Amino acid sequence: MYDPENIFAKILRGEIPCNKVFEDDHALAFRDIAPQAPVHVLVIPKGAYVSMDDFSENASDAEIAGFIRAVGQVARELGLVEPGYRLLANHGPDSHQEVPHLHVHIFAGQPLGPMLTTKT
Ligand code: AMP
Repeated sequence: MYDPENIFAKILRGEIPCNKVFEDDHALAFRDIAPQAPVHVLVIPKGAYVSMDDFSENASDAEIAGFIRAVGQVARELGLVEPGYRLLANHGPDSHQEVPHLHVHIFAGQPLGPMLTTKT
């Protein structure tokens, strides 16, 4: 169940501010409030989707195409293609997803180290 009171829903409705870097019909991108890399941007779809699981099952083809294109466009506009960047999207408790509105993290701005530090 999507919670319309989650913080990213409030950002989409303009009820709380964000440091916006990109917006189009399908997506909004803004800087993470607690950056974990020199560049840390979140890209969110405008539709009400909890996570990639919900989005990939229930979003329209146009929403999915628009969102994925937006992620790439944000990275290009921020000049990240040459140096490189990392995408991350959390789903559910094991991933420690905090905000229940789909968001893709874009990390960049320095060598990003190993993919995961968690040991099994
Ligand atoms: P996740 O753990 O994948 O759900 O990540 C949620 C991210 O949202 C974290 O990196 C938070 O720092 C970030 N965040 C939470 N509230 C805000 C906000 N108001 N503006 C920007 N980023 C936020």
